[in-house]
Amino acid sequence: MGKRGAAWGLLLCLLLAGCAPKSARRTIFAMDTVMDLTVYGAGAEEGVAAVEVRLNGLEAALSVTRQDSEVWAVNHPGESGEAVTPADEDVQALLSAAVALGEATGGALDATLYPVARLWGFTTGEYRVPGEEELAAALGRTGYEKLQAHGDAFAVPAGVELDFGALAKGYAGEVCRQMLLEAGATSALLVLGGNVQTVGAKPDGSPWRVEVQDPAGESGESLGVLTVTDRAVVTSGSYQRYFEEDGVRYGHILDPQTGRPVEGDLLSVTVVGASGTLCDGLSTALFVLGREGALDFWRAHRDWDFELLLVDKDGGATITAGLAEGFSLKAQAGYTLYVEAGE
Ligand code: AMP
Ligand code: MG
Repeated sequence: MGKRGAAWGLLLCLLLAGCAPKSARRTIFAMDTVMDLTVYGAGAEEGVAAVEVRLNGLEAALSVTRQDSEVWAVNHPGESGEAVTPADEDVQALLSAAVALGEATGGALDATLYPVARLWGFTTGEYRVPGEEELAAALGRTGYEKLQAHGDAFAVPAGVELDFGALAKGYAGEVCRQMLLEAGATSALLVLGGNVQTVGAKPDGSPWRVEVQDPAGESGESLGVLTVTDRAVVTSGSYQRYFEEDGVRYGHILDPQTGRPVEGDLLSVTVVGASGTLCDGLSTALFVLGREGALDFWRAHRDWDFELLLVDKDGGATITAGLAEGFSLKAQAGYTLYVEAGE
């Protein structure tokens, strides 16, 4: 290349670099999961740093295993026997969401299941199948309706233990989205384990493409792609965490009525919507309710701004009407696609 060619090359590089959107990316481990955070635009570095701080703060408040967390303090109230009213704003926001979604789902979402989850070892990884009596005793301490509303705040009676595992990552995505928007960011992709929060559209204005995992496929195979703008995409399913004993598979999503792992007709539930907290809570609760229960719930709450992708054990993938344009099924995954019109 002659001198002139090199100069043109340099100019082209500068132009391309100038056109490419600024971005900052970090991978962190928080809230028991690997998180991949990408923020675009001016202020991307500050934005991603602020998100990391916020996520670490949420983990510090919400962890069930860290002895310095707010949730630990609520779950270990000491001998006084008095109800604890958590001061932390995030804990109060989650309590409020947990009670609202507990009511709406007929108790399928229950943020007080921790004593039961602990018996199965899902909190520590030391898995075991509990006996009937200990299960019944633990179930006696659960029930979202035990949480007491005092004005705007919630109190947790002694003996009731919180676990926001079904809500916390969706909530985290939602509050980080809000924080980024307030700081002037217009485009970001926050992958918080199985919870994806998109902010705005991609920097080029096109929608984000979010892969949904095939719950029956080999590790990480894709079932299809959702195209979304400024939405949360949250997936729940027993395939995400389980153990096997004597040839039986026990999944981490529990039926609050029995205290046992859900053995319904679904492999996974994906919820797409404006609120990450709602999507996360519903992904867990609708997995408990099963295919018909989930579709009934969607039909009854059309004004809640969420859509569903339900993968069932009979080889069906059902999407609700609002995803008809925004989901493409991979033919190789081998599922039959159904569209729920909602009429
Ligand atoms: P997710 O991954 O959002 O579906 O949440 C699952 C986690 O929430 C589990 O690992 C438990 O910690 C907790 N959990 C399990 N079953 C329930 C339930 N029915 N309601 C609320 N939390 C649950
Ligand atoms: Mg959830």
